[in-house]
Amino acid sequence: MNAAVSNARLEADLASLGVHPGGVLLVHTSFRRVMPVEGGPLGLIAALGNVLGSEGTLVMPTMTDGESVFDPRTTPTCEMGITAELFWRQHRVVRSTHPGGSFAARGPLAETICAPHPLSPPHGRDSPPGRVLDADGQVLLLGVGYSECTMLHVAEDIAGVPYSIEHPCVVDNDGVATRVMVAETDHCCRGFGRMEGWLGARGMVRRRRVGHASAILVSARDLVAVAVQQLREDPLCFLCPPGTGCSECEKARASVR
Ligand SMILES: [Zn+2]
Repeated sequence: MNAAVSNARLEADLASLGVHPGGVLLVHTSFRRVMPVEGGPLGLIAALGNVLGSEGTLVMPTMTDGESVFDPRTTPTCEMGITAELFWRQHRVVRSTHPGGSFAARGPLAETICAPHPLSPPHGRDSPPGRVLDADGQVLLLGVGYSECTMLHVAEDIAGVPYSIEHPCVVDNDGVATRVMVAETDHCCRGFGRMEGWLGARGMVRRRRVGHASAILVSARDLVAVAVQQLREDPLCFLCPPGTGCSECEKARASVR
């Protein structure tokens, strides 16, 4: 068992990585990779908040399964990890109202970032990650890879990728739970891993160990600019190559008109 990392050490790691007071930070994390740390996932949330300071805004994805009517005050997250699940339940945290693709935020820009956003696409230009981009925020991948990076769906929307898949989602329609289809640029997302080489070659990524996890920090603007440039050259660059047996990417290819 590794030794628990202290909150002071965690904060120093985050600051060395480039998280800074007053910043807007979108965090995707797997706590299992970061642990053990002092105070568990709550200690991690506190450390992120302390480094951002009172002028900074912390943002996390709090997506849900879409199988029941979404209530931002009660609906648990689905596959977002323990850190995000505990974060949205905390004091002064705002949660957006998208029935499947919600985000939570705390800080001066929380209301702006979590303002109502279109049903489709859930993570397009006008969505919480899109607003993190507008605010010149940063993306922190803490113990996870680019496949978890929702900001790349913003890039897909800006580039106008030709694939789109519909998923069912339950919404409240004047008090009646109703199933609607929500179109999004869905695929297995393993292809997002190509960003590593593209960003690395341009020196746009900061990386170091945070807690026990490998962490990547990148400016949202740099990430989206490079992704859009690659998508303009090859609109299908994030999909697995044909014939590689990835059913999700095959579906995305089949959706191209
Ligand atoms: Zn795939």
